[in-house]
Amino acid sequence: MENGHNLSKSLVVENIPLACSNELAAVEFLEKQRWGNTPACVKCGSVDVYKMKDAKTGERNRRYLWRCKDCKEQYTVRIGTVYEESRIELRHWCYAFWRACTSKKGVSALELKRQCQISYKSALFLMNRIRFAMAPDPTSPKLSGDVECDETYIGPRRPRYKGTSKHGRGTSKTPVFVAVERNGQLRRRVIADVTAQTLKGAIREEVDRRARIITDEHHSYNGLEKEFAGGHETVSHGTYEFVRRDVHTNTAESTHALVKRGIVGIYHNVSREYLHRYLWQFDFMWNTRKMNDGERTVLAMKAAEGKRLMYKQPNGIQ
Ligand SMILES: [Zn+2]
Repeated sequence: MENGHNLSKSLVVENIPLACSNELAAVEFLEKQRWGNTPACVKCGSVDVYKMKDAKTGERNRRYLWRCKDCKEQYTVRIGTVYEESRIELRHWCYAFWRACTSKKGVSALELKRQCQISYKSALFLMNRIRFAMAPDPTSPKLSGDVECDETYIGPRRPRYKGTSKHGRGTSKTPVFVAVERNGQLRRRVIADVTAQTLKGAIREEVDRRARIITDEHHSYNGLEKEFAGGHETVSHGTYEFVRRDVHTNTAESTHALVKRGIVGIYHNVSREYLHRYLWQFDFMWNTRKMNDGERTVLAMKAAEGKRLMYKQPNGIQ
């Protein structure tokens, strides 16, 4: 396993763009990622396997089949993976992962539709799977050290339809909470409201009790110093006191700004219902900002495998 992983890491930067351009290259790229130099049968695990050839041309079988000499099983690299769930060509998967992981603002389903010449439905399917792969891992450790916490509102500025009730669809922005370590990782989530109960609940779930919490003067944050060993510092935005020593929430605010610009620029208005998926994508990019493009793409591909069986779509696509 370990060898296969290192191998895929070292090969990835040169091979991903190629894998996006033709199906054979994509198949071989994913085979290398999955099996390294020792391809194995997906049914019995035997390594006595071979690539099937087309009888007429002697080229590789058109469906890229493998065959196991031990159990006689025929299979492809898609079997038992996230790629098995659709008939979308593997080069499009590679392209979508590559674009989503290398562009700061991500890629929209419409762009994928045009660039890959696939249906909008297929493009949405790809992007939903990729965003899900980018979702935070619930088993990862809580944030620690100096942690800035901040809330903001994301969404359309004005009511979309005049004359509808002010609680109607599209009339209000969606509250979003972020906790971010200085020079480290962040966690962001859509929240129901900005009450003390909600905001403190989010902080307790995301931040280690030994941390130092830094927030603005929003009253909902009052009392956190009793719960966090590092204390609770507040910065007052109302009195031009934006930066006192190291007490500021500039990191949290700049990550919010990045998301807002990205969502307006690429995705226009994202509805409240789907906002969390776009946050996964932006936050994944932030949390992997020190990796190179190839490492980040491979990480997302592996995460897609890990989360494959957790994915549930109650209403079909979207
Ligand atoms: Zn077998």
